[in-house]
Amino acid sequence: MSANPLAPSAALVASVKSAAARPELFDTAAIQQMDTAHYMHPFTDTKALGEQGARVMVRGEGIYVWDSQGKKVLDGMSGLWCVNVGYGRTSISEAVYRQMETLPFYNSFFNTTNLPAVQLATKLCEISPPQFKHVFFTGSGSEGNDTNLRMVRRYWDLLGYKERHTIISRHNAYHGSTVAGASLGGMSGMHEQGGLPIPGIVHIGQPNYLESGRGMTEQEFGIKAASWLEEKILEVGPEKVAAFIGEPVQGAGGVIIPPASYWPEIQRICDKYGVLLIADEVICGFGRLGKWFASELFGIKPDLITFAKGVTSGYVPLGGVLVGDRVADVLIEKGGDFNHGFTYSGHPVACAAALENIRIIEEEKLVERVANDTGPYLKQRFATLADHPLVGFADSCGFVAGLNLVRSKAAVVHDNVEFDPALAVGMICRGYMFNNGMIMRAVGDRMIIAPPLVMTRAQIDEMVALIRHCLDLTYADVKERGWL
Ligand SMILES: *Cc1c(COP(=O)(O)O)cnc(C)c1O
Repeated sequence: MSANPLAPSAALVASVKSAAARPELFDTAAIQQMDTAHYMHPFTDTKALGEQGARVMVRGEGIYVWDSQGKKVLDGMSGLWCVNVGYGRTSISEAVYRQMETLPFYNSFFNTTNLPAVQLATKLCEISPPQFKHVFFTGSGSEGNDTNLRMVRRYWDLLGYKERHTIISRHNAYHGSTVAGASLGGMSGMHEQGGLPIPGIVHIGQPNYLESGRGMTEQEFGIKAASWLEEKILEVGPEKVAAFIGEPVQGAGGVIIPPASYWPEIQRICDKYGVLLIADEVICGFGRLGKWFASELFGIKPDLITFAKGVTSGYVPLGGVLVGDRVADVLIEKGGDFNHGFTYSGHPVACAAALENIRIIEEEKLVERVANDTGPYLKQRFATLADHPLVGFADSCGFVAGLNLVRSKAAVVHDNVEFDPALAVGMICRGYMFNNGMIMRAVGDRMIIAPPLVMTRAQIDEMVALIRHCLDLTYADVKERGWL
């Protein structure tokens, strides 16, 4: 147990907004000590964190968060790709409070339902593409993808194709961290721990032009990358393939934006073999790419859409699956009980938060703003970073963007000279960002952002200037180390 008696009281006052703005109330060292003594963080080397100490975040407002030492940080990652409407939305807290006062919980298992879940399901069907008239709720994106796996296999079983259980995904995809989520994902670091993927899940290459598109135009490469799906379907046997799953734009893999030719070709191949198409829109949905759902942007008609994150802007955990007519009709008409679900499926408090979050997105026209105003502005401003000596390639799509740090640049992006990955230049750059008031994430040497959708043009200028400043600091550092 922690010995410091100050720490619990400091942690307690943090829950009061006015107190959270008073850094003198926090004993940061004591909190950090308790943190590493008791709290195992996700995707974290606990021992290494213990040596360094975690940054203690205590409050947020708009696009900024503050730590326990009073330092203000521009949150270029929307928490973890989710705080789409920004921090400090009193109307969401009030909606949550009202629902907690009225009915904090009830299950949806035994012929019961609750008002926010009904309203939210109806609302989601209204804002999603027309093939979606049903919603299955979960507590997270990972559980949404577990649901997909169960649901597509059930679909094919009901149609009498009991062999049709294989799901094709992609290397470097992220679909969550449950056993099915991590298996569907293509992260080798995750597969190494725990004997994943589980049987019946196979992977193809990702549509990463920088990595694999040498000698091709982007559009040629998009067709090529989609052809890997057809090759895999033929290798597995079309009679065994249940579904293909992909993020419209890969998020955790490093904001990999596919060429425009990629998704329509994937759709064509899925149609040709009758393979179900699952769009994992946990990041891309709810306005992030300037549409309610990115499937609309890329011209695909998925059978299932996974959602989470932006559905509540992260204020309360919620996820789920939009179930398209093709699957829903079979499950409902032929299915009987679907033996799957969660205690918190359709949690009334989470659904109330989502309803208010969606209301805000509509009222403030955040989807339209990202599509027509701030998204194009971010694209233009972010592209200016490409002239920095460390930046080999910078691109964006709606409100996600990424740039590659390189040792030297060439006329053709594929000839840029990269840093030795062992030098971890991305992590050095992330450190400068972190210490200079900017949250920008590193995936290898690719630096990525996904800012809150409420960000204004002036704030985009502020963010791009901060990024440039931190790139300068990184440049000076790696030069001093003799790595250039
Ligand atoms: C975050 C994420 C998930 C997992 O969501 P959790 O709520 O963390 O379980 C799944 N798919 C994608 C694309 C994600 O970005």
